[in-house]
Amino acid sequence: MSVSDLAPSHIRAIAPYQPGKPISELAREMGIEESSIIKLASNENPLGVSPLAQRAIQAVLGDLGRYPDGNGFELKQALGERYGVALDSIVLGNGSNDVLDLAARAFLTPADAAVYSQHAFAVYPLAVQAMGARGIEVPARDYAHDLDAMAKAITPATRVVFIANPNNPTGTFVGADALEAFIKGLPDHVLLVLDEAYNEYLPVEVRTDTVAWLRRFPNLVISRTLSKVYGLAGLRVGYALASPEVAGLMNRVREPFNVNSVALAAAAAALRDDDFIRASYELNRAGMTQITEGLTALGLKYIPSYGNFVSFEVEDAAGVFQRLLQAGVIVRPIAGYGMPNHLRVSIGLQSENARFLESLERAIA
Ligand SMILES: *Cc1c(COP(=O)(O)O)cnc(C)c1O
Repeated sequence: MSVSDLAPSHIRAIAPYQPGKPISELAREMGIEESSIIKLASNENPLGVSPLAQRAIQAVLGDLGRYPDGNGFELKQALGERYGVALDSIVLGNGSNDVLDLAARAFLTPADAAVYSQHAFAVYPLAVQAMGARGIEVPARDYAHDLDAMAKAITPATRVVFIANPNNPTGTFVGADALEAFIKGLPDHVLLVLDEAYNEYLPVEVRTDTVAWLRRFPNLVISRTLSKVYGLAGLRVGYALASPEVAGLMNRVREPFNVNSVALAAAAAALRDDDFIRASYELNRAGMTQITEGLTALGLKYIPSYGNFVSFEVEDAAGVFQRLLQAGVIVRPIAGYGMPNHLRVSIGLQSENARFLESLERAIA
């Protein structure tokens, strides 16, 4: 008997998450300078860390000998202020990935099932599998969530439905009316985890106050992150907003100190940095236009995206990915998401987008 047989079969069956290639790794492999590489592979904010967050980080460094505030009071207050929610409706996470896991841990057992879409964020099947629960993947329609089919896939064993809106890696978006109708139709025994990691990038005209829905739907969990528009991906901080009952259960399975002191302080400051958020949003809109026009000029098809990234179709995606790496440009292959002919590129600085497009033109020639 091998030591790996000691783990339950549902753990052994997990296929590990494949992150974007780090700059340092490509520099090592290719023997080139890190500064000559651009990474557009993990939907990070190309402007980096907000100035207000940088100051908060400096201010907290002297206190790192102490444990963090396990209740995250200061950050919860900043969130309460911004979204008008009570502090007992908030669950803090080590990234929103942690929050997604907490929802699975609090609500799924091996007897239960969870529903999510084909081409949806890879963490949902991982979180579900880790609990030994059954994952039901519903075929997408034109790469987007098919809400009717998802509703039909719900069984008496289903406890959780995951929806990413906008979705990663497709960038597709479900409008407010369709989403609200879906939530209204959910049976009482099902919780909806609505993952809004890219919410802040939504164009103004499609935004809805989903937080206001929490008062009407006690089975709604909204997950958000500081990793994307707020520029704190390396610190790992995210949060869920839910009814106090649901938040209370998720907090019971949370590690007591899951969010570190630097992350707590930086996140509270970043949430209040309206100038930085606006600049990041505008940079993304301009960059999205630059990249999608560039893709069209190259004769490539892309999936219109509501996030800070766009997935496009190429012949021989694996080969194009490798040739881009050789040019020092890191994008993301998404074959693992059932999209072997697509690559995903994150929107970068204007100069990064331009270099990506030039390198891509050579890579597909
Ligand atoms: C990036 C992303 C997250 C956030 O991950 P963090 O753990 O908060 O860094 C969550 N959901 C989706 C769909 C994402 O793309």
